[in-house]
Amino acid sequence: MTTTVLELSGVSAGYGRFRALFDVSFCLEHGSVTALLGPNGAGKSTVARVASGLLTPSAGRVLVNGEEVTGWPAWKVVSRGVAHAPEGRPVFATLDVEDNLRLTFFRQLPRKEAAEALDRAYERFPRLAERRSQLAGTLSGGEQRMLALARVLAVPPKLLIVDELSLGLAPRTVDEVFRALREIRDSGTALLIVEQQVSRALELAEHLIVLRQGRITYDGSSVQVSDELRSELLAVRPDS
Ligand code: ATP
Repeated sequence: MTTTVLELSGVSAGYGRFRALFDVSFCLEHGSVTALLGPNGAGKSTVARVASGLLTPSAGRVLVNGEEVTGWPAWKVVSRGVAHAPEGRPVFATLDVEDNLRLTFFRQLPRKEAAEALDRAYERFPRLAERRSQLAGTLSGGEQRMLALARVLAVPPKLLIVDELSLGLAPRTVDEVFRALREIRDSGTALLIVEQQVSRALELAEHLIVLRQGRITYDGSSVQVSDELRSELLAVRPDS
């Protein structure tokens, strides 16, 4: 078995004629935590979309567990264990919390496993359990983010990609979200974290990838990162 859960090799990608990524290559190890950082517009979300099959690269290859998945639709990439919690709050606003979860879990899983997944979601996010009858559209931003995260965890993924989970959240809620990410990591899932709160991301990650203008400018340990690079990253995000 390969030790690599995700590999991008020579990936270029964009939107119409606009090119957002240039020859991007990296590997993520099973069970590892990687922070993907860089300035606004560097291409971080684009990498996340390519990795989860939401965007097909114009060149290069994407491999999940050593299997080539380039050009596969997102639903098929999900079936190989890659889950993506995208930026924003992708929940069904007019359904309550429980129906949001049921709709996702019972569509993807046999009845018994779906019921177990529901229990697991409530254990992991007690706030959602408390609010199970509340309409998702009336939840706070942080709670909606947790619900979105709970929905992609129906089946424990091999790799979870999270995009700007903490954006606009109160510090206490960010603590909860990061506690949940730690638990997910401890259960064996690898994480790829796109995050504006640089310090938080670096606390959790052992692997750091920095993107600038669609190109990788650093790929290595997040622990041994130079003071110069760390202050550069922090300067890009003065709020972290
Ligand atoms: P941020 O930190 O601001 O979210 P990012 O590093 O995630 O930025 P991307 O969202 O990947 O960057 O965007 C990379 C480039 O691609 C940007 O110049 C952006 O304007 C462009 N882009 C992103 N999404 C689209 C789209 N749907 N259509 C056209 N251009 C896009």
